[in-house]
Parts: sequence; C-alpha cells; structure tokens
Amino acid sequence: MARILIIGAGGVGTVVAKKVAQNHDVFTNIMLASRTKSKCDKIASEIKEVKIETAQVDADNVSELVALFTQWKPDLVINVALPYQDLTIMEACLEAKCNYLDTANYEPRDEAKYQYSWQWAYHDRFKEAGLMAILGCGFDPGVTSVFTAYAAKHHFDEMHYLDIVDCNGGDHHKAFATNFNPEINIREITQKGKYYQDGEWHETEPQEIHKTLHYPGVGPRESYLLYHEELESLVKNYPTLRRARFWMTFSEEYLTHLRVIQNIGMAGIEPINYNGMEIVPIQFLKAVLPNPQDLGHDYTGETSIGCRIRGIKDGKERTYYIWNNCSHQAAYRETGTQGVSYTTGVPATTGALMFAKGLWKGAGVFNVEEFDPDPFLEELAKQGLPWHETIDADIEFEK
Ligand code: NDP
Repeated sequence: MARILIIGAGGVGTVVAKKVAQNHDVFTNIMLASRTKSKCDKIASEIKEVKIETAQVDADNVSELVALFTQWKPDLVINVALPYQDLTIMEACLEAKCNYLDTANYEPRDEAKYQYSWQWAYHDRFKEAGLMAILGCGFDPGVTSVFTAYAAKHHFDEMHYLDIVDCNGGDHHKAFATNFNPEINIREITQKGKYYQDGEWHETEPQEIHKTLHYPGVGPRESYLLYHEELESLVKNYPTLRRARFWMTFSEEYLTHLRVIQNIGMAGIEPINYNGMEIVPIQFLKAVLPNPQDLGHDYTGETSIGCRIRGIKDGKERTYYIWNNCSHQAAYRETGTQGVSYTTGVPATTGALMFAKGLWKGAGVFNVEEFDPDPFLEELAKQGLPWHETIDADIEFEK
C-alpha cells in the first residue's frame, strides 16, 4: 500500500500515471504534479479506474517541492520530469522524508555530461535517513541493467563482453522527430561516443563507429556506438567485464537532419540574444519539432532492445541474448503514447511496485542492477513488456 507522487506530465509521465492507476490495489493514492497543471489534469481525466490528484510544481525549486511533499506525504516520488531536476527532487525527498525513483541520470543544463557522481554523492544521506533512491529505472538505463543482473545471476560465472543494443524499428511517418524530449535526446546523440575496454574508457567522435546489427522481428539496422549512462554503473558493479558498449539504430534520414541541425547551430545549448530576448537554440528547436507525445497515432513497427553478453559458465564459453520487442501501435492502444514512452514508463511503474511490495529493499542510493532481478522481470512481463532469451546461439544472426 503506497502513496505515489509522479513528477512530469510528458510522454513518460502519461504512461506512468496510467500504469500506476492500473495497479491501484498497491498504489492506493496517486498524485501527478508538473510545471503545467493543465497537462496533469488532461492525463487524470483520461484515467477512469481511479481518481488521480494533480498539482502544479516547479521541480527546479526545492522549497516548492518540500512544501508539496510535506503536505501530501508520498511514500515514493517518481521523477519523470527532466534530468535537470534530479538533484532538486532528491534534495526535497531527503528534507520531506520520501523515497525516490528516476529514469535518467542528472545532467547540468550548461553541459551535456552524463555521470552518476552527482547522484551517488547522496548515498550516505539517504542511508542515514533510512530512505531509498532508485536510479535509472526506465528501459535503458533500467531494464537493460536488470537484464545484465539477471544474466550474471543465472547464466554466467564471469561476464566478459556486454553489448547493449537499442533498435527503434518503428516509423512515425514524419520527416524528423525525436521519440522523447528533443532537447535531452539531441544532447545525448550529438555528444562524443564512449565505450569501456580493458579497464579504460575510450572516446570516439559522434557516430564514428557503426555497423549493421540484426534485431529479432525487425531485421538488419545500422547501429551506432554511443555513450549511455548505464555503462558507468554496470562496469563498476560487474568488474569482470572486459568490454562494455552501447549501440543505437538511426536511419540515414535522421542523421542527415541531425547533421543539418548541428551545422546551422540549432543544437546549441548556450543562450543567444534574439531581438533583445535570450533564447537557447535547442529549446527553440524543441518548440517547433513534433511533440513526441503526438507521434503515437501513426507510429508503426516495433522497438527491440536487449543485452548481448559473452563470458564463461562452468568453464565453457557462453553467449546470451535477452531482449524485449514492443509494438508502437499496441503501446498507443493501451496508453495513447508511442513505444519509447511506454518502454520507459512501464519499467518505472514496475520499479515502484518492487518498492511498494518490499521486494526491493535498502537504504541509500542504488542502481537497479544492485537489486534482485527475478521479481522485477516477472512483474515487467505482466505489466506489458514480455522478454525473451537465447543461450549459446549465434546472437548476431538470431532472428
Ligand atoms: P517530456 O519533455 O515529454 O516531459 C517532461 C515533463 O517534465 C513535462 O511535462 C514538463 O513540463 C515537466 N517538467 C520539465 N521541467 C519541469 C520543472 N522544472 N518542474 C516541473 N515539471 C517540469 O519528456 P519525456 O516524458 O519524453 O521524458 C521524461 C524523462 O524520461 C526524461 O528525464 C527522459 O530523459 C527520461 N527517459 C528515459 C528513458 C529510459 O529508457 N531510461 C527513455 C526516454 C526518456 P511541461 O509540460 O510544462 O513542459
């Protein structure tokens, strides 16, 4: 039995609100709060099974958050606003004595830099307060981290090579659109690539390394090596890993648009002066691009995201591939949003269920691979994201 406060009424917030409401036997009281209350009210009006309270809050402002948390007394705050708000929300959780869960690690506004150090620094304070902070509980990070923990627990004595492969095999029928917040998405993709090998991080130019990978149910897709935040915690928690990489698919069309956007300065994160007004180019771009929440209606195809791992079991070489495919249309029929919001919101809800049922316990700040993967993966499949695995097969050409 838990009181859940969701912050952020975007694509992911919509899915979390709807999935949390479907589990109202566990989540007895639900509040959705965001910068724009009318967006919360609209989502709440679409939920029939249970009444959802709504509120306006500026999540950049700790004292506003503390006032809301102190008055409403959530057991768990689910942060699906933007990565910029992670630290203010964590700070407010400590002050108001609430537990915390998010899906993306903190990022300063003035630098596209992803590292857990800022949030890991809160460990002792959460521990002393007897509170729990669950970091990165979306799909990637999130499910990919739990997939890795599941592989380590059941299929390997030592994991040596990890490739996280993220394919969006869908088509939204727009010339260019991003699948989640455009500002966060473009900042992520235009930064330098990075992977881990033999105890060191190796940096690449953006999209420098790429190859064709085959995805079950989708087929071959050009896949680009990029840095993704779960690599940092996974190499720390699984020190036998010799190499860890992250791959994401992009179409030629997408990359051409991105190149133009960068070349003409529209991906800039520094404010510029326009007619006496300060604007940030990438934030202006967000305002003119399609809203990721509106892509669902025409979205066809599937996402296919998983982990390909090589290592040793009982003295023998082992290969292992674990993945989920999610249909954009099925996600839209259930929640009114496309598959990328769905594959983020369902794991966040599943993590909240682990917390509320006492299946994930502890005081401090945790990445999701530090918990027992079994109850999470069992619940994830029930909540709408079934997964598949293959052992000792040719993981590259497995269809
Ligand atoms: P959206 O931009 O659609 O939604 C963000 C929401 O947060 C909006 O409702 C916005 O309000 C609200 N918000 C922004 N700033 C504030 C603030 N200062 N105070 C209160 N509310 C605020 O983003 P998405 O739903 O696509 O993404 C949500 C999160 O999920 C992001 O952190 C993203 O990085 C993460 N994500 C994680 C993935 C994973 O697999 N781990 C995959 C995809 C996304 P307003 O409506 O007023 O703009």
